[in-house]
Amino acid sequence: MKELYYLGGVLKLKLFKGFAATALCTAMIVSGVAYSQQADAGPPGHSKAKVENVIFMIPDGYSTSFATNYRIFKGEDTVLDSMLVGMMKTNSADNWVTDSAAAGTAMATGVKTNNGMISVTPDGETVETILEAASDAGKSTGLVATSTITHATPAVFASHVQSRGSETDIALQLVNEIDVLLGGGKANFLPSSLGGNQAERNLLEESLADGYAVAENRNELLALSKKDKKVLGLFADDGMAPELDRDQTNEPSLAEMTDTALQSLSSNKKGFFLMVEGSQIDWAGHANDAAWAMKDSEAFEEAVEEALAFAKKDKKTLVIVAGDHDTGGMSVGGYGEYLAKADILHDVTATGDFMAAELNSDRSNVKAVIKEFTNLDLTDEEAERIKKAPENSTALTINQIVSERAYVGWSTTAHTGVDVPIYAYGPNSSTFSGLLDNTDMPKRIAEAMKIEFGN
Ligand SMILES: [Zn+2]
Repeated sequence: MKELYYLGGVLKLKLFKGFAATALCTAMIVSGVAYSQQADAGPPGHSKAKVENVIFMIPDGYSTSFATNYRIFKGEDTVLDSMLVGMMKTNSADNWVTDSAAAGTAMATGVKTNNGMISVTPDGETVETILEAASDAGKSTGLVATSTITHATPAVFASHVQSRGSETDIALQLVNEIDVLLGGGKANFLPSSLGGNQAERNLLEESLADGYAVAENRNELLALSKKDKKVLGLFADDGMAPELDRDQTNEPSLAEMTDTALQSLSSNKKGFFLMVEGSQIDWAGHANDAAWAMKDSEAFEEAVEEALAFAKKDKKTLVIVAGDHDTGGMSVGGYGEYLAKADILHDVTATGDFMAAELNSDRSNVKAVIKEFTNLDLTDEEAERIKKAPENSTALTINQIVSERAYVGWSTTAHTGVDVPIYAYGPNSSTFSGLLDNTDMPKRIAEAMKIEFGN
């Protein structure tokens, strides 16, 4: 595992081999933000009925370009296409280009903070989150992610630390406060990761003793009973596998985790607040890996379908979906051509990281490896580019060549500051229409649930 440092924060990536944050493509991209307001947000979309349950879904890094490329990849309108209601500004307190910690803090607390900070003000003061407000109102709470469950986006909903890198401090704050926790990051709950006077604690064992049902793989998750109201599922030491590589693991899908969370949380008559993050759409953007981005967008859409099925039956559930920022400055089309071919990415069956790890020491098998995992016949020139790439940017070079063939452009390996789409379904969904600020999100959720929310 390596760590990618940026904007003073730490993004932990589960890496197979050789990813580097080197931006090679500097083409300027203006993401298309034109959209038409969907009249049909889906009944009971326009009612002002009281909302008992909220499912807040965050496809990390997902902007309009991801939405359009995913539509091309899928070959038809997406589930999210039918739910579009508005757009959201993403800037943080100190930067037009936010990181996930500041973006999530705004979306969870209604207060802007500096990049890297988790639900504290720039001065370090703790601010209430919408999840905490829902809990105070007697509702059950849950967090689901494919990153570590202590990563920035889930962390902002239920912990307060100066730096997003303090994942073991975050773990200590999550356990016992949250009813359902599902994701990666088991290492942060074990004694070896807890320093100082916490060093002897094993949060996993403590959780078991405190009444959590614990699952450590897909089979154990699926075997849980609907009666398990408190569930701790940690399926990888660090981040979970990218959807492209998940079939080589015994990890559950995001949809399976979402379904389990809904079953557990819905037993509370007073309702629930659940946050579900498609964490790795962002990681794919950082890696400029177009196929990883599409496969994790697909996995996220399947999780949205679980949430919608629940909401349609329940009629008192509001589903809101919004990315926290764009990652990668993706474009639809590029490289001087009037072409967009994200559909060819169906033939890609591994991440760039995985393919880079399959190369032999002199990289003489590059054409065979790329053919096996992408079905692309590399030109001699393309093969040479990969052969000559430095060790730490081999995967990036593979991803750039695959992206060129799909006419998916990238302008950075970091985040960008474009607005992102907001999607909603259920009672009060129309109150998320128009151009909102990221700080508006938790305030409108609190109004919809008719609960006290202080910030
Ligand atoms: Zn993010």
